[in-house]
Amino acid sequence: MTSVDTLIRGITNGGAPGEVCSTDLVEAPWNFDTGIPGYGPGSSMFDVIPLDAPLQGELPAEYRTASKDELHQRILAAKATLGDRVLMLGHFYQRDEVVQYADYVGDSFQLAVKAKASPEAEAIVFCGVHFMAETADLLTTPEQAVILPNLAAGCSMADMADIDSVEEAWEQLESIYGDLDARDETGRVPVIPVTYMNSAADLKGFCGRHGGIVCTSSNAATVLAWAFERGRRVLFFPDQHLGRNTAKAMGIPLEHMPMWNPRRALGGNDAATLEQAEVVLWNGFCSVHKRFSVAQIERAREQYPDVHVVVHPECPMPVVDAADSAGSTDFIVKAIQAAPPGSTFAIGTEINLVNRLAAEYPQHTIFCLDSVVCPCSTMYRIHPGYIAWALEALVGSAERPSEVLNRIRVSSDVAVPARVALERMLAAKPGEPVSV
Ligand code: SF4
Repeated sequence: MTSVDTLIRGITNGGAPGEVCSTDLVEAPWNFDTGIPGYGPGSSMFDVIPLDAPLQGELPAEYRTASKDELHQRILAAKATLGDRVLMLGHFYQRDEVVQYADYVGDSFQLAVKAKASPEAEAIVFCGVHFMAETADLLTTPEQAVILPNLAAGCSMADMADIDSVEEAWEQLESIYGDLDARDETGRVPVIPVTYMNSAADLKGFCGRHGGIVCTSSNAATVLAWAFERGRRVLFFPDQHLGRNTAKAMGIPLEHMPMWNPRRALGGNDAATLEQAEVVLWNGFCSVHKRFSVAQIERAREQYPDVHVVVHPECPMPVVDAADSAGSTDFIVKAIQAAPPGSTFAIGTEINLVNRLAAEYPQHTIFCLDSVVCPCSTMYRIHPGYIAWALEALVGSAERPSEVLNRIRVSSDVAVPARVALERMLAAKPGEPVSV
């Protein structure tokens, strides 16, 4: 199976059929980030850069000019020297050129659990995006350093909700619902905040301070059930699609799920709509999963009548409704593992994971619903050049003492309440996937 890196290069050079959603991705990140001073947390290629974003700075020339083979040898040598002192975590959506160095590969929930369960590692090199590294910092000891090899590896969805907008929304909801700490005769408060794991640490802290919780795509239904035991409504951010798909599968009518647009008064709703709301959905989305469509599913079914269509719940509701099943990346992997040989799967999630599954399970026919090669451009910013740079700094040399670069630290005023919301999440066992 051709890696996504190789495929993109082939397409842009005319050597492979198909399209790529951004030809910029053929370049190394330090080339396509030219003109941008380096940024994070968050941002896909063309998003607004958060003003308070930490700066990546330029990667030293020796790493930018090194060949693929040289970087490979340098990473292996540094990893061998560091041994168990360093743990490398890799998200499912990372390209193969990065995942090959990971000691453990998983989705954001699994990586958070692995970070927490690895107190022996002095440093965790997180090959994911900014909010995941923040979560690892929250769950590890103060002595452990969590390193994000490229600070510009963010998440555009996470950037769609920021603490000021959420605080403002909370105040406006209080003007409609009254005292948000007041319990009714059933012991429930008017609204519970729920943030998706794909959010900045200060939003997790907001949830911790206001009786709320974090969810992942594996446990969203369990978390919503937890929230409804404690509140009459939920404010769900930042991903409208995960919130809508999960709540719909629980039987909540769509008219009780108004969207909150942070740029408009009352989120663009009237008071009566908010009064009858059960889930208020933040107007955020994943630019990768938004690309999947019902037309793609229909085409897959025409071509392969026996195809099983499985999509991620970050996809829009009509896509989830039209699919055979929907669930987290872990759910998708397990569905393929459990299938009898000769099965056909059309998958609606990020292309790197789909291609890897196709290579690992040659007994099945596995393809991506979207024929356009469109990897997560923010994940794509983790490149072997940055990994070699971060690892060799940790190793140090006779001329240069060992150094921790790109350490992700969450300040204690945010970390304390964020841990409360995360611990509630970790206690909520992943339940049934969103079913269709
Ligand atoms: S796939 Fe979507 S949600 Fe995941 S990191 Fe990329 S932009 Fe964010």
